[in-house]
Amino acid sequence: MQSSGSSKSDVHELGLRQLSGLLHAKKISCTELASEFLDRINTLNPRYNAFITVDGKASLMQAREADALFAAGRARMLTGIPLAQKDIFCTHGWLTTCGSKMLANFVSPYDAHVVENFKRLGMVSLGKTNMDEFAMGSSNETSFFGAVKNPWDEAYVPGGSSGGSACAVAARMCPAATGTDTGGSIRQPAALCGISGIKPTYGVISRYGMIAFASSLDQGGPMAKSADDLALLLNAMAGFDARDSTSIDRPSEDYTRELNRPLAGLTIGLPREYFSDGVNADVARAIDRAIAEYRKLGCETVDLSLPNTRLSIPVYYVLAPAEASSNLARFDGVRYGYRAPQYADLNDMYRKTRAQGFGAEVKRRILIGAYVLSHGYYDAYYIQAQKLRRLIAQDFADAFQKCDVIMGPTTPSTAFKLGEKSGDPVQMYLSDIYTIAANLAGLPGMSIPAGFGDGGRPVGLQIIGDYFSEAKMLNAAHQYQQATDWHMLPPPLS
Ligand code: GLN
Repeated sequence: MQSSGSSKSDVHELGLRQLSGLLHAKKISCTELASEFLDRINTLNPRYNAFITVDGKASLMQAREADALFAAGRARMLTGIPLAQKDIFCTHGWLTTCGSKMLANFVSPYDAHVVENFKRLGMVSLGKTNMDEFAMGSSNETSFFGAVKNPWDEAYVPGGSSGGSACAVAARMCPAATGTDTGGSIRQPAALCGISGIKPTYGVISRYGMIAFASSLDQGGPMAKSADDLALLLNAMAGFDARDSTSIDRPSEDYTRELNRPLAGLTIGLPREYFSDGVNADVARAIDRAIAEYRKLGCETVDLSLPNTRLSIPVYYVLAPAEASSNLARFDGVRYGYRAPQYADLNDMYRKTRAQGFGAEVKRRILIGAYVLSHGYYDAYYIQAQKLRRLIAQDFADAFQKCDVIMGPTTPSTAFKLGEKSGDPVQMYLSDIYTIAANLAGLPGMSIPAGFGDGGRPVGLQIIGDYFSEAKMLNAAHQYQQATDWHMLPPPLS
């Protein structure tokens, strides 16, 4: 950065430490920084549809408050850093739609735990990002607010369900964003848009104020350009919260503490099932090159097997809809959001409200969920799926006896075309084949950019760690990002 003039035009490419450096050196104010990103959102969002709600006035008010913290000498590392929230996080005074007509007019009366944490640090919200309806999807095409486009090629999906956040970070409309991951919704869109994302161990980030899809699988996490940024954001997001009964009460940790440790001696497990016929050749090539890079960095690799992997999709598509059918019962036209304008009686009001307020994919999940939980089928489906979930977790426990982290592709292919899978739910479900098992086991998983496949679309390398090994995973990701620059390459927006 030579002058404040050049720094302002370049801010979109910078990492959080650099942005923080500019703010602390008074090269740019929080208000100017927020304006830079708001301008870019105004220019690019009409094309990509990454945001559902942008409220420049509200953002600039937060930025002025951050400037006041600087003036008072109370600024912290992340003070004044702008970021976007997936529209599944309740944000006081802003619309929180969850991508659904059902909540299209819902203004939250309170903040989610993570939003409170960001506010306490003086971070600035740039808006609410688009997503698959109630986080159900892998392409962002089930959003009531329309599909998001992939910034690497507008004819392709950004992935889902956190597709708006992934697109917004990739297109440099914000330096970072939040996502949620029930079966891959942070990692899969991160992979398809060429950014980094991490879903920590289940329970590390409070789900308070995060609209529930499948509560035993849902976990929030950060999405950004680099592992370094993710570590800083995780420091802000993680922590015990008594309002979430599954929040884990353990001493807080600094997720940046191992970033710079050399990787020599790290053992990487390569599950045979992740390198099988199911993965496209272009993705496999990029992943092989990434693994070769890790060997150069001094890592050992060990082949292993996760024999129950193939059961992940069927198990997930029993359990997630079961939990969703229960969680979504609250959207009844009485307590929240949409109510059908015309109805005959109370039952008719419920029926019409839910028929009109939910999209097709959400209805499909509710029906499947109600079915697998119903009398006579419960044992055959729900209980059976719970048993298999245990076996899937055991596979990982065995694997982590032999390695420190597991690596493989995040997705079997690069981004697919808009409309290509939207008529075929099973094909859509299969795009999460490598990500879902980590949610079923409650393990942390992340995706980092690892080159490009056919057509120049990004490939994501998945890293899965043992419980609470986020610092180790971030170390592995950061060292790779010191040796390569895939994560710094922006899409060539024509
Ligand atoms: N694509 C998966 C689904 O449709 C996962 C979604 C998610 O992680 N929220 O359920």
